[in-house]
Amino acid sequence: MSVYLTIDGKTIEAAPGATLIDVAADNGVYIPSLCYMRGKPCLGTCRVCSVKVNGNLMAACTVKVAAGMEVAVDDAEAADFRNALVEINFSEGNHNCPSCEKSGRCELQAVGYELGMVASRFPYRFAKRSREDAARHFFLERDRCIFCQRCVEFVRDEETGRKIFSIDARGWKAEIVIDVALADRMTGERAAEVAEMCPVGCIIEKGRGYDDPIGKRKYEIKSLRQRVLDGETA
Ligand code: SF4
Ligand code: SF4
Repeated sequence: MSVYLTIDGKTIEAAPGATLIDVAADNGVYIPSLCYMRGKPCLGTCRVCSVKVNGNLMAACTVKVAAGMEVAVDDAEAADFRNALVEINFSEGNHNCPSCEKSGRCELQAVGYELGMVASRFPYRFAKRSREDAARHFFLERDRCIFCQRCVEFVRDEETGRKIFSIDARGWKAEIVIDVALADRMTGERAAEVAEMCPVGCIIEKGRGYDDPIGKRKYEIKSLRQRVLDGETA
């Protein structure tokens, strides 16, 4: 049995209990996000997918659709909230895209372009977090971490099930840490997947970077909005 809801005034049929951000994408409505990965448990850390649900701001990755729900994505307050969260990420860390190995393949960069961001309204913090290169496969460029927790929750040692990444300390002292011994047990193939999972250029695969000349394009991955419009919602 289906339920009917509206997104920006358009009636949409969906499976009851489906996740709002997926339902929107399946119906050609782009909602930006940074931590959410379709098919994986919701993390709800970035809140960049916030929309109005029955008049209240909610992260679309945390909402299960229900009959009669009224969703507003194209809403001035919700859009400003989303933009502010993206801008905070740029001002909290150090994001010098032209000198970043992930430039062109970075989800934060892509979302910044999607939202038409030019500069952050918040003061730049110029974070000073140490780099890490002890792991066999990875560099950690910690100043670029947006604390989405994808690596913390979705990367585990295959044999023991133990987590390989974690967040140390809190507030402005927080930083991502890696269990080097466990990380070094990964195959090169798995390591490449893990680096790709990081939505920004924090987990960098050793031996890879600057694959394409800098300065040729806005970003290399197909526009996230265009992927949704083209029905490529995975
Ligand atoms: S992580 Fe993304 S946003 Fe940050 S510098 Fe690299 S490309 Fe730019
Ligand atoms: S290292 Fe990357 S995947 Fe891990 S929390 Fe930071 S931004 Fe997210």
